[in-house]
Amino acid sequence: MGRSNDHVVVLGASMAGLLAARVLAERYERVTIVERDALPPTGQHRKGVPHDRHVHGLHPRGREVLEELFPGFTAEVTAAGAVLCDVLAEVRWQLSGCLLKQRPTGLPGLFASRPFLEGQVRERVLAHPRVSALEGCSVAGLAAAGGREVTGARVLDAEGRLTTIEADLVVDATGRGSRTPRWLSELGYQAPAQDRVEIGLGYSTRTYQLRPGAMGGDQGILTIGTLACSRFGALAATEGGRHLLTLGGIRGDHPPVDPDGFAAFAAALPTGDIAAAIEGAEPLDDPVPFRFPASTRNRYERLREFPAGLLVIGDAVCSFNPVYGQGMTVAALQALALRKLLAAGRAAAPRRFFADIAAVIDSPWDIAVGSDLAYPQVPGPRSAKVRFVNAYLPRLHSAAADDGALALAMIRVIGLKDRPERLLLPGRALRVLRGSLRRTPKQVPGVAASVRGKAGSSAR
Ligand SMILES: Cc1cc2nc3c(=O)[nH]c(=O)nc-3n(C[C@H](O)[C@H](O)[C@H](O)COP(=O)(O)OP(=O)(O)OC[C@H]3O[C@@H](n4cnc5c(N)ncnc54)[C@H](O)[C@@H]3O)c2cc1C
Repeated sequence: MGRSNDHVVVLGASMAGLLAARVLAERYERVTIVERDALPPTGQHRKGVPHDRHVHGLHPRGREVLEELFPGFTAEVTAAGAVLCDVLAEVRWQLSGCLLKQRPTGLPGLFASRPFLEGQVRERVLAHPRVSALEGCSVAGLAAAGGREVTGARVLDAEGRLTTIEADLVVDATGRGSRTPRWLSELGYQAPAQDRVEIGLGYSTRTYQLRPGAMGGDQGILTIGTLACSRFGALAATEGGRHLLTLGGIRGDHPPVDPDGFAAFAAALPTGDIAAAIEGAEPLDDPVPFRFPASTRNRYERLREFPAGLLVIGDAVCSFNPVYGQGMTVAALQALALRKLLAAGRAAAPRRFFADIAAVIDSPWDIAVGSDLAYPQVPGPRSAKVRFVNAYLPRLHSAAADDGALALAMIRVIGLKDRPERLLLPGRALRVLRGSLRRTPKQVPGVAASVRGKAGSSAR
């Protein structure tokens, strides 16, 4: 069978698949997205994205890319209910128990529920005349010519019939459960090595109607662990005037889903702000759990051989602890890398593509996984660099409680505007040193020793 002309098949209609489809439509005559789920109206949850019930925020860099791909996106989604806010002036970042100094940054990010954000992107991508979706169809494997070159995908339709969809290019965006490593082995290629850090993360999320003024004018509060308490909490405004609270803990210290246990876990976070904000709030649902066993990174860029006609993108390549909320921005940056490659006429250059996206992934992977390795209970080797950075960061967080320039530098790195090395520039390192000589790490006001004690005793 000959290959169809100018046809690309994208496997998976979540963020990475949709954004890939958007850029592929600039070069290919037809883009077919194959998705296992029936695609619901914007704002509704779906089974294929179980993480869509938990807090999702979009960093400024991710928002900029969406704006570039869909001009007018920010204004339109904000008008539809998403919350646009300055990521430091209106968000309380509590890192290592220290509140980063809040100040205007000119960097707007978005808070909205994941089904809302994904639905907004989906509406725009599917409105493109070259893009169509096959819903309720599950990808069963790849089609290959001579066992070497990928020529399409084998798909089970809603009635359970197996068909082959031919394509010039197949892009796997099926998330962390991607079967490309297995399919490569079946085709006689080497599967990629996988880096894996067992974080054993458990999440629970509940929706609230807060008391007026409960957030004190802020749109989000993010409390990310201390060495004494590795728990995490994110309370964020979302569309419809509601707030989502996601709680998390690692290595078995998981937030319960019964309402009393959930509230007790919130009260035992490293800082008291979230517990105070939800006091007297009306819960709108019951807590929902999620488990994230390990951060995983498939090292496609290290393979010597890779079949023509196939690319892999998004969480299917790298899925890391979502505590810093970087995954959608990373997917958007990978889509930009793909766009650049296509513009250079090099779509069929998988090795170039994997090298380009490895450069995109390096920083967020180092940030997420390096921070995970700060916790002694997370297994894995600590390089000298990881040990140094993990000794430096609590001092930086402490100094950034008073130093707005350091707070901004930190947020730009987390938000993928700057590379982490910028936090180590001599001028900044000096400010950190001076800041930490002036005081012992400064805790967020209101953190009672009893709260820390409670957190420690309940951690397994
Ligand atoms: C709890 C949690 C919270 C997060 N919070 C944030 C945040 O605040 N900010 C942020 O930027 N990122 C966040 N992320 C990360 C972000 O959700 C992902 O990085 C992002 O969605 C990119 O995922 P993806 O599209 O690659 O894969 P996924 O979202 O996993 O989507 C995979 C898609 O493929 C489909 N699929 C799977 N198998 C098949 C098959 N065989 N056939 C057909 N279709 C198939 C699925 O149905 C699904 O639609 C969070 C992640 C988690 C787990």
